[in-house]
Amino acid sequence: MGETIAERYRKALPGSWAQWERACRIIPGGITHDSRHLVPFPLYVARASGPRKWDVDGREYIDYWMGHGALFLGHAHPTMVEAVQRQVSQGTHYGACHELEVEWADWITRLVPSAQMVRFTMSGTEATHLAIRLARAATGRPKLVKFTGHFHGWADGVATGVNPPFEIPMSAGIPGSVLGDVLLSPPNDIAALERLIKSRDDIGTVILEPSGAQAGTDPIDPGFLKDLRQLTSDRGLILIFDEVITGFRYAPGGAQEYYGITPDMTTLAKIVAGGLPGAAVCGKRELLSQMAFGPDAQRNRQGRVAQNGTYNSNPLTATAGIAMLSQIADGQHHKTANARGAELRSALNDVFRKAGAPCVAYGDVSVCHIGLEGAPGAGKKRDASLVHKWRCALILHGVDMSANHGWVSAVHGDREIEETAEAVRKAVADLQAERALP
Ligand code: PMP
Repeated sequence: MGETIAERYRKALPGSWAQWERACRIIPGGITHDSRHLVPFPLYVARASGPRKWDVDGREYIDYWMGHGALFLGHAHPTMVEAVQRQVSQGTHYGACHELEVEWADWITRLVPSAQMVRFTMSGTEATHLAIRLARAATGRPKLVKFTGHFHGWADGVATGVNPPFEIPMSAGIPGSVLGDVLLSPPNDIAALERLIKSRDDIGTVILEPSGAQAGTDPIDPGFLKDLRQLTSDRGLILIFDEVITGFRYAPGGAQEYYGITPDMTTLAKIVAGGLPGAAVCGKRELLSQMAFGPDAQRNRQGRVAQNGTYNSNPLTATAGIAMLSQIADGQHHKTANARGAELRSALNDVFRKAGAPCVAYGDVSVCHIGLEGAPGAGKKRDASLVHKWRCALILHGVDMSANHGWVSAVHGDREIEETAEAVRKAVADLQAERALP
C-alpha cells in the first residue's frame, strides 16, 4: 500500500505542522475554535481573496468555510475592504453612540420581516443568550424548549442536546441547575412538542434553527415550522428563530422570508456583520423595548432587561454590516450563489455516483451539506476518523470544507465548481484506497 492520506498530508503541509506544534505549547489543543480540530493537525492560512485562500506553505485552496458562512461575497471583497479601510482611519471605538449603528439597524429592519427593533451583540452566542433573556423576562416563565441537534452557540444556557447522545451536555463544566431550564424536544414532531407544552406551565420560549439542525444538516420540514408558529402563538409562547446561519443567506430576509413564517424574535450573526465580529437580536417592539430605560427608576433597576458589551455595534463592524447588507438587499447575489450551490450539489452527487460511494451532497440555497455515509438522519452519529481523512484528502487536493457542509458564496464561479468536483473525485478515490469508504 502507498502512503496514507495522513502521511501525505504531513509531508505536503510542513508549515502548518510547525505552526500547530508551536501553538500546542501555548493554546490548548493548538486551536481556537473546536471545529478546527483536525487530525493530524489543522490548516494554517496566510491570506485569502474571493473564493480562494493560501496556506503558510503557499498552497492554494478553494474555500467553502467562507468565514463560517459569514463571507457571502467572498474573501476581501473590494467594496468591503474599501469601507473598512475608510472607517478604520476614522476611529474604531467612540465610547459613544454613532450614526453607523442606526443605519445598520435600519438595514436589518428593512430586510428581516420580524425586525421591528434591533439590538447588537458581538457573536451569535451572545445574540441567542440575549434573545432568551428577553423572552424569559417577557413571559416570566423560565423553561426554554430547544430541539435535539439544534445549535445555538456555546453558552451554558443552550449547551445541551446538540450532538448525540443528546442527554450528555455539549461540554463539561455546565451546572445542572442551568441545564434544568432547557427542555429538549425532537425536531419535526409537532405532537411531541404539544405534549411537552401541555404537560407543564413553566415553558415560555421555543428556539430553533429554521433550516433544521446544524444549518440544515438534518433538514426541517416546512410544515413543521408552520405548525410550530401556530402552536406557539396559540399557547402564548415566544418563538425565536436562530438565523445566525440562515439570516440574509436563505433570502435577503432570511429563512423567515424564504418560508413565509415570522417568529417573535430572531438572532442574526455572520452575514449581518459582513465578516467582522458582530451579531444582532431583532424582533417585536414590545419584546425589545424591555431593554429601554424609562422614567420609572424601580422598573429600570428591577424590570428592565440589561445588556452591556464593550464592542457591541462598534463603528468598524457596523460599517462592514452596512456594506454587506446594502449590497445583498436586492437578492441578485442570492441568485448567483444559489445557482452555484445547486451546481455544486449536482456535480458532487455525480462524482459520488460514478465512484460508487455512499456519499450524498444536499441542502438548500447556497449551502452544500455532505453526508459521507449517506443521507442524513436526525441524531445520526458520524464516524470521526472518516471525517478527518475526508478533510485531509480534500485539503491535499486543494479544497477546504467543513466536514459536513460548505458555504457557497456569490463569487464562487464555474471554475471553482469544476475544480472542486475534480478534487472531490480524487479525495473519494483516496478514501476508497484506504478502505475508509466502500
Ligand atoms: N447559532 C447558530 C445556528 C450557529 O450556527 C452558530 C455558529 N455557527 C451560533 C448560533 C453561534 O454563533 P457564534 O459562533 O457567532 O457565537
